[in-house]
Amino acid sequence: MTAEILDGKTLAADIRAELAKKIATMPGENMPVLAVVLVGENEASKIYVRNKKKAAAEIGIGCEVVELSDTIGEKALLEIISELNMNHHVNGIIVQLPLPKHINTLNVLSAISPEKDVDGFNPYNAGLLACKEPKAIVSATPKGVLKLLQKTGVDLQGKHAVVVGRSNIVGRPAAMLLLNNDCTVSIAHSKTKNLKELVLQADILVVACGCPKLIKKDWIKDGAIVIDVGINRVDGKLYGDVDFEEVVEKASYITPVPGGVGPMTVAMLLENTYEAALRQQSETKHSKTGCSCENCHC
Ligand code: NAD
Repeated sequence: MTAEILDGKTLAADIRAELAKKIATMPGENMPVLAVVLVGENEASKIYVRNKKKAAAEIGIGCEVVELSDTIGEKALLEIISELNMNHHVNGIIVQLPLPKHINTLNVLSAISPEKDVDGFNPYNAGLLACKEPKAIVSATPKGVLKLLQKTGVDLQGKHAVVVGRSNIVGRPAAMLLLNNDCTVSIAHSKTKNLKELVLQADILVVACGCPKLIKKDWIKDGAIVIDVGINRVDGKLYGDVDFEEVVEKASYITPVPGGVGPMTVAMLLENTYEAALRQQSETKHSKTGCSCENCHC
């Protein structure tokens, strides 16, 4: 068997084009605006922020980058977040990670207003996701993973999904999302024993551990769907956490690296920003009219 390639680049481009069409119909004052807070001089972070800004601009989302020195204190950073929370022109706020060591990341992410938390990293949104609340803002990478799985057309119900990695930004929310979609979920991590045996049971395998080519062909159940989130630079070349050349021969679907989950992450951030703007505008409209009904057109 040779797996079908799940082309995240094309799917992400389609999603961005759809978003662009919808945003083009919005009145100027309602165009979504994303604020990106960038602290310090981390070169990789600067590139990520530049890419997000460019992708936003291409589909009509305004993007304001708030660049701050790495000497900024936590209190001052929290004040900036608070100002962005109160700024009615800003619909989405993200803080580019990692933050300098003297700043408590959890305090900063928790300070972002949940309805503007378009990275979905605020523990409140993580909690809503864990409770299967539809109003949870789901972080971009796991949301992209789910869209890729849905693209296969395979029914997820009852499938055994194994997620390798338990980080707050990928592994945990991916596992929650799969559970909310009726998969039976196992989460593996660096202390898991007999990882190969567990992975061999997966109908759906999501790998986000940052270990280049860890997953080999003889770890894969025949016909499994394999989503490789890993991005590892080795000698200037990018590799996933899955040994693509081997595993492509055993899986039914597989994402490439690059060109799989990566482009979906940016597209999902833009989708979250658009959806947040819509929700905020609808709430403002309801509060102005005093209407308390749900889903009305007042
Ligand atoms: P992380 O370092 O925060 O977490 C890694 C997780 O993998 C941990 O939970 C750890 O327990 C587990 N792990 C480590 N080694 C393992 C092993 N040998 N066996 C089993 N589990 C192991 O990393 P992260 O932020 O979750 O990112 C994971 C990977 O995904 C990285 O390569 C990162 O670059 C990539 N990533 C890609 C995107 C994207 O858009 N494609 C987004 C975020 C992260």
